[in-house]
Amino acid sequence: MDSAAFHRVTSEGRLPNGLPWTIPIIIAIKKDQANEIHEGEKTALLDWNGRTFATLDVSETYPLPKEELAQGAYGTTDQNHPNVADIFNNYGDTALAGKVALLRRLELPTVAHEMTPKETRELFRKRGWRNVVAYQCRNPPHTAHEYIQKVSLERSEVDGLLVQPVIGRLKKGDYRPTVIMDAYRRVVDGYYPKDRAVLSSLSITMRYGGPKAALFLAIVRKNFGATHYIVGRDQAGVGKYYDPYACHKIFDQFDVGIVPLRYMETFYCRACKAMATAKTCPHGEDEHLAVSQTHMRQLLQEGKELPTEILRPEVIAVLKQGDAVLT
Ligand SMILES: [Zn+2]
Repeated sequence: MDSAAFHRVTSEGRLPNGLPWTIPIIIAIKKDQANEIHEGEKTALLDWNGRTFATLDVSETYPLPKEELAQGAYGTTDQNHPNVADIFNNYGDTALAGKVALLRRLELPTVAHEMTPKETRELFRKRGWRNVVAYQCRNPPHTAHEYIQKVSLERSEVDGLLVQPVIGRLKKGDYRPTVIMDAYRRVVDGYYPKDRAVLSSLSITMRYGGPKAALFLAIVRKNFGATHYIVGRDQAGVGKYYDPYACHKIFDQFDVGIVPLRYMETFYCRACKAMATAKTCPHGEDEHLAVSQTHMRQLLQEGKELPTEILRPEVIAVLKQGDAVLT
């Protein structure tokens, strides 16, 4: 990995390989550290326990252009946006560029069942999968999610499915990683053919960057060996910062080397008695049971019954174990 020299990247608008920059990975340090680290030196990168896990050959230090970073990656400098707040409040003012050398993998929480890109690629090869569709998520599965995963798997050129829930650092109101992984494990074990689906967590901080984050997350999945990538409505959105379909359109603008499979909002239709989208169902909204994470969380917190049309009983059982959401 090369921690990109951000000012150079932004001025040219493209990375050295010709792709547009999406959401850069930044190593930013505070003032007191900045005095001790110089260009041309090697420095240690520490994990949350203060132990070295990698080294960085510092090729450049530069003042982090926080406004430009927030605007470029997230389209806003509004600090009500969780990632923008992070940039302004938690990132240091000095950024480091240079080659990173990994000494050991980070220790992941026990809930993680996480394969490396090398391991997933090897597994796909062993299984004879030439084309793999990846699914990004950060919530327990609804039948709407299951529907678009399976519709993608039905495509004749697709051999397998990689379900990769993001379980990195949380913000308030997020489901806990144990809940997400436990619910997905039960659904994948119970409702997917064993030789067609792989569940593997992804421990990264979620970037709620709408269209740019959708590109970023697609590139990450390409690294894991996926050839196709599912893009639902309002992927990686937060609040009302992004047009819900901007995450679809951006794939027309940029080819990042993975095939986007785009889906409109998915719902259960009482008249069709099936999952559907506006593309496949002619009925009115009064027949539609939409999947709203906010509504689900509310029902859960109020101790009300969860709708079995859009949640598998196994998932409801996991959600009802209590303490599902970070408060
Ligand atoms: Zn219908």
